[in-house]
Amino acid sequence: MGIALSGPDRFGPLADRPPTVATLCSHSSLQIFHGARTEGFRSVGICRGPPPRFYEAFPLGRPDRFLPVQEYREIAGLADELNRENAVLVPHGSFVEYLGPEKFQALPVPVFGNRAVIGWESDREKERVWLESAGVRMPKRFAAPEDVEGPVIVKYYGAKGGKGFFLAKNRDALTGFRPTGPHVIQEYVLGTRYYVHFFYSPISQDGYRVGHGSLELLGMDRRDEANIDELYKLGAQEELLRAGIRPTFVVTGNVPVVLRESLLPQVFDVGARIVSRSIELFGGMVGPFCVEGIMTEELDFKVFEISTRIVAGTNLFVGGSAYSDLLRPQLSMGRRIALELRTARETGRLAEVIS
Ligand code: AMP
Repeated sequence: MGIALSGPDRFGPLADRPPTVATLCSHSSLQIFHGARTEGFRSVGICRGPPPRFYEAFPLGRPDRFLPVQEYREIAGLADELNRENAVLVPHGSFVEYLGPEKFQALPVPVFGNRAVIGWESDREKERVWLESAGVRMPKRFAAPEDVEGPVIVKYYGAKGGKGFFLAKNRDALTGFRPTGPHVIQEYVLGTRYYVHFFYSPISQDGYRVGHGSLELLGMDRRDEANIDELYKLGAQEELLRAGIRPTFVVTGNVPVVLRESLLPQVFDVGARIVSRSIELFGGMVGPFCVEGIMTEELDFKVFEISTRIVAGTNLFVGGSAYSDLLRPQLSMGRRIALELRTARETGRLAEVIS
């Protein structure tokens, strides 16, 4: 079993000498470099312009070498240098955003995970097909304002950080709503948000088995979102809207959370369904992914989004989390990625974890 694009012919030298872990100097890079160092790998940080100074403050999270570019979209120009380094690129949220899905797909450098996932995640319609066909519960969608029942969130496609999202308490509050672009009208799920950090290893033989590998839970967070999280202090939303203040969902940070233990089977079931379906649809997701959902008062977990790579919420757990401590002490997501590379290399299965 191998994933698309991978194979010994394409990445021959990787098998002969240890890979170098490379990523963009942003998002979760400190943790990725730290994880690589802990597992004994060299690391390379691709930075825009001169190396960012803040790395000097974190010697254990600093890459061994910086590779500067003028603009991140020029990374493909570094391909020869990266291949000389025997690099495996670890994609994170900013990575794909800066590069764009097409350039990411076409990068002539090995990438950790199955890059075929990008086509399914970057398109909200395809993502819904994937999740719903996996049997995962998602917020309802309404075709038109007249169909709306209960509170809704209107999401414009490509709205960065949720800027431009629109909340309405009911159908009446949508009277006169004039969309300004392609959008979806989605049930606003009432409950508490959880961002669940999973890792799927196609080569692991222990633990919670899914497909030929196993599913691990490494941590959970909740995102701090400005200005919505503190908006209640100013009073009712109607008044705020009249004053020209609109809610936004711009992520500014993360806080750690744990879930009621009795709800863990439910989130594992969701994670397992997503992985199993990904195997059928495109050869399987590999490595970190995050299930972003809301637990309702009926204790139903409804998933509004998934991220199919390392999320920034994992930065909370450089030294381990309440969950990862039960797998292995001090296991961050960055370290888990490096560990997977190490195990895959030692067992001759690199082709199954890179593409
Ligand atoms: P998204 O861009 O889909 O990740 O959404 C950004 C933020 O909007 C989330 O982190 C949630 O706080 C909120 N959100 C998104 N979808 C929903 C929903 N269906 N119900 C309630 N809140 C939501």
